[in-house]
Amino acid sequence: MNDIQKSDFSSKADNCGISKTGAEYDGFGWDLHCHSSFSDGTCSPAELVEKAAQIGLSGVAITDHDTTAGWQQAAAAAQKLNFPLIRGTEITSHFGRVSVHILAWLYDPQNEAICALFDNLTKMRKERILLMTDKISKDYPIDREAVFACMKSGDETTPGRPHIADALVAAGVCENRSQAFAGIISPKSPYYVPASSPDAVQVIKAVKNACGAVGIAHSGAIYSRGPVLSEEQIEELADAGLDALEIFHRDNPEEQRIRLKKIAGRLNLLATAGSDWHGKGKINRMGENASDSETVREIVKRSFLTVAGM
Ligand SMILES: [Zn+2]
Ligand SMILES: [Zn+2]
Repeated sequence: MNDIQKSDFSSKADNCGISKTGAEYDGFGWDLHCHSSFSDGTCSPAELVEKAAQIGLSGVAITDHDTTAGWQQAAAAAQKLNFPLIRGTEITSHFGRVSVHILAWLYDPQNEAICALFDNLTKMRKERILLMTDKISKDYPIDREAVFACMKSGDETTPGRPHIADALVAAGVCENRSQAFAGIISPKSPYYVPASSPDAVQVIKAVKNACGAVGIAHSGAIYSRGPVLSEEQIEELADAGLDALEIFHRDNPEEQRIRLKKIAGRLNLLATAGSDWHGKGKINRMGENASDSETVREIVKRSFLTVAGM
C-alpha cells in the first residue's frame, strides 16, 4: 500500500461524512444500488445524484453493471451539490448454477485484477449482445446499429439485453421493455444467448484485492431471478471475503429476508438495502429501500475510496 492509500484509509472515517454519534444528514438513509445510462439505467450519473439529493436521501451509490465509467460524472455532480456519493459496481458472476450479482463498493478502480476482470466481462457481454441481435434481426426490423443507438453513453455503456429491448421498442415491435423481456429476449426465446460470467469467488477476491466492500445483490430473489444461494454457498463466499447481503430489495420476498437475516447474523455479514433504480427503465423507485448510516460507515471503514461529494 502506498502513502496516498494509507492516508486515504486513515482519514476516511473523518471524511466519509457520517457522524459517529448519529446521522449528520437529515436524509432518510442511503440507497446502495442504483443504475445510470452507463449500464441499463435511463438517466445520466449526474441526474442520478441530483435525484437522490432532491428526494432527501442521506447518500446514494452508483452501481452500474461491470463498469466504473459513470463514476467521474457522478462524483462531479456530488461535488457540485455537496451530496454524499458511494462509487460502486454491480458485477455479474455465477456460483455453481446460481447467477450471482455482486455489489462492489469503494474499491480501487486502478487495481490490475479489477481492470482485467472488467475488460474480459465487457468483451463477453458485447459478443453475446451481437449474437442475439443478429439472430433477432433475421425476423424483426432491428440491427446492430439500432441496438448501439440505444446505448446512451456510447462505447462506454455496458451492453446488455435492455438495449436490445429498447431497440425493439423503438422499432415498434414491442410496447415496452417488459414486453421484450417476457418475449423475444426471454431465456425461453429461440433468440436467447446465455451470458457467460466469472465465478463469484474470483470476483469477490478481485474486489477484496482492490480493497473494496462486497455484497450480494437481491440475494433472496427466488421468484423473479431463479435459484438463490444456499446457506453453505453463502458461507463459502463469506470465507472468500464477502462483507454483506442485500437483504432489503423488492425482489426478496419476506421469507427470504427472514432466512437471510439469520444467515447474516451467524456469519457476521452486513445487511444492506437498495432500490436497483434504473430511471424509467424499471418501476423501482429510488430510495424505496435505504441503508442506515451505521452500515454505510462500516462499508467505508473497510474500503479504499472515501465517500465522494463531501
Ligand atoms: Zn442485479
Ligand atoms: Zn442492479
